[in-house]
Amino acid sequence: MKITIVGTGYVGLVTGACLAEIGNDVFCLDVDPRKIDVLNSGGVPIHEPGLKEIIDRSRAAGRLTFSTDVVASIAHGDVQFIAVGTPPSEDGSADLNYVLAAARDIGRHMNGFKIIVDKSTVPVGTAQHVRDTISQELGRRGMRQEFSVVSNPEFLKEGAAVDDFMRPDRIVIGSDSDEAGQRARDMMKRLYAPFNRNHDRTLHMDVRSAEFTKYAANAMLATRISFMNELANLADSVGADIEAVRRGIGSDPRIGYDFLYAGAGYGGSCFPKDVRALIQTGAEYGRTLRILDAVEAVNDAQKQVLIEKITHRFGEDLTGRSFAVWGLAFKPNTDDMREAPSRTLIAALLQRGASVKAYDPVAIDAARGAFALDLKDDPAAHSRLAFVKNQHDALPGADALLIVTEWKAFKSPDFTALKVALNAPIVFDGRNLYEPAVMADLGFEYHTIGRSLQH
Ligand code: NAD
Repeated sequence: MKITIVGTGYVGLVTGACLAEIGNDVFCLDVDPRKIDVLNSGGVPIHEPGLKEIIDRSRAAGRLTFSTDVVASIAHGDVQFIAVGTPPSEDGSADLNYVLAAARDIGRHMNGFKIIVDKSTVPVGTAQHVRDTISQELGRRGMRQEFSVVSNPEFLKEGAAVDDFMRPDRIVIGSDSDEAGQRARDMMKRLYAPFNRNHDRTLHMDVRSAEFTKYAANAMLATRISFMNELANLADSVGADIEAVRRGIGSDPRIGYDFLYAGAGYGGSCFPKDVRALIQTGAEYGRTLRILDAVEAVNDAQKQVLIEKITHRFGEDLTGRSFAVWGLAFKPNTDDMREAPSRTLIAALLQRGASVKAYDPVAIDAARGAFALDLKDDPAAHSRLAFVKNQHDALPGADALLIVTEWKAFKSPDFTALKVALNAPIVFDGRNLYEPAVMADLGFEYHTIGRSLQH
């Protein structure tokens, strides 16, 4: 099938590459010429395991094109995926300017029946805006042209995006019940058939419910995290081990083990903004979403938990102190720094006078950009932040090691070398990577999230 992807970011690039991998003819459009240049010179602008391999393969086979040419892109695809960003507006609602700009482009240039697929995460009712925007543009051109707008939210996880796209748990397709909607639904069924060989994972529904499903999923996942973080803090107070509690409750199939890890708070490009956007949708309809208000407040507080533990141990003034930080990306296997808890922690350390040596296996370039922005008004603090190329290079002279992202490479370090390199054997672990009893035996002072049971 001939497919166009509008927006070649995390979601658009993975969607385009995976649809090309199974044999479709895919045209990826982006307004950012630097991104397209990187792709056309054989690079990949984001870190995502397995992505480069499938891009290289499809490009070599002539099935994957990257371009900034709007007219050519709209002429190309019978199916036009909109996969542009939907960042938060001032009030927390999703900013639809990019989505509607893409819709306008499509309406301005389309000739012939097109299926427009909202892949971006968009609030309930957005498909109607997209439809209206395209109709307006067609009207301006004096054209009557049938088209259909489908909602097909994306559930991939950064860091495992290719795998998730290739082996989805479910494919949600929201389509209209009119004739064009039926046609769109059949096309989408055909497009996704290769992902359904083992069993049909497609959930067909109306457009508004499909739009809602994406927010409901992210809100539920964020809720689980904030719930466990709140209980972890209580576990610290009462002297219980949140990991034992997690296993204890996870064994109930109604609860399950997944997504119950206490930590330094959730970040990334999705949970924070999607929770806020759903709260804002509630407000628009006169409904206060009290659970999600609490989820967000708990998460904001959780991003402060490590700094609170550190100042409790070393005092509020950290002048002259030095810290090693392992992990900058908001989660492992990605270079995404959007709303990463490391940003809150490191800024708080620097602003209290500390120096920081930070390491991340892939996010250092992205982190440089993020901290340049965060600390633009405080050059003195910025000057005390250094990035190192090796996780052990962060340690010498540090008063403690702080772990913020659970990269695999941090799970089994050489503890003897660690102890020798640090000023003192102190670890603040925002991801609970090690066993407290083992750390105690090794002679470490080990601070966790909810595991301060005395062993
Ligand atoms: P991103 O910022 O990485 O990519 C968006 C891309 O769209 C950018 O490259 C930008 O230059 C491009 N763009 C903007 N306007 C354009 C236009 N008019 N024409 C062509 N290109 C344009 O964003 P992302 O992380 O891929 O997210 C995209 C959407 O998918 C968001 O709504 C997000 O919530 C949703 N989503 C993201 C993830 C994730 O893990 N990142 C997962 C599921 C859903």
